[in-house]
Amino acid sequence: MKCSCGREAIYYRRYEGRFYCENCLSKQIEKTFKQTIGKYHLLDKKDHVIVAVSGGKDSGSLLYLMSKVFGEVRTIKISALIIDEGIKNYRTVGIKKAKELCTDLNIPLHIASFKEEFGKTMDKITKKTDNPCTFCGVFKRYLLNKKTRELGGTKLAVGHNLNDEAESIMMNLIRGDLTRFERLGPKPGLIRNEKFIPRIKPLIKVPEKELMLFAMVNKIPFFKSRCPYSYNNVRRDVMNIINELEEKYPSTKKQIVGFYNSIMKKMKIETGGKLKFCKLCGEPTTQEICKACEFKNLISKF
Ligand code: SF4
Ligand code: ZN
Repeated sequence: MKCSCGREAIYYRRYEGRFYCENCLSKQIEKTFKQTIGKYHLLDKKDHVIVAVSGGKDSGSLLYLMSKVFGEVRTIKISALIIDEGIKNYRTVGIKKAKELCTDLNIPLHIASFKEEFGKTMDKITKKTDNPCTFCGVFKRYLLNKKTRELGGTKLAVGHNLNDEAESIMMNLIRGDLTRFERLGPKPGLIRNEKFIPRIKPLIKVPEKELMLFAMVNKIPFFKSRCPYSYNNVRRDVMNIINELEEKYPSTKKQIVGFYNSIMKKMKIETGGKLKFCKLCGEPTTQEICKACEFKNLISKF
């Protein structure tokens, strides 16, 4: 099959009914990335953007695009940050790939580790819990925010793609978690606190499959492997259901995310409340003691 430009196609975008060659697909993804940044005002002229990388295709593509599109903009600074949860043969490989990419792009890479911050690796924590992702998720969010701030970052860019966002919306619906539900979108801006760095998701409109092709076509170093502790993961169940639906009804993911954005716009939700500061570590929290400190105390007894 041929792309509309005449070249050999590598991809059929079902929801559009169009074939793409690697060139046109790459250009299309770059265009979507720029449009998302423009439409939702994700960047300011003087931002120091910290890109959260993992060694995977999504965050790798994000860093690549940030560098390609904004690398020459003198007022915008770009750095990368990777969280080392302490998962052997998984994050160790991710760090290697992230280093390769940052060297290629000449972008500084910073590493923050669970071991250093919380005293234990995920490899240790998983031996004592059936639900490692609960600990890992809380620690990761905490550390990303804290390190971004310490590095002087004004925005934290994450590589969430269309699939991730559709999954998060459905997961929070299933859990009935309104607080988290409200905090989705390309620039979840409901939390106002000087210690809380705004997160942006410039790839929120790009399906995972397309990012995989983008990373391959642009020779972005990445590794493709699943965390060994993702077995007890609600996200994976939701992902399988959404993928099945997408197979039957192309556009399902786009519709879920589009619908979410429409209702959020209509509802104009005033939330987030006032965040306090954790009495132990001083980081922003809704409670007296933040969840990370609570968990840190718990794992110290493991
Ligand atoms: Fe952490 Fe769970 Fe993700 Fe593994 S699957 S990196 S344990 S949140
Ligand atoms: Zn705390």
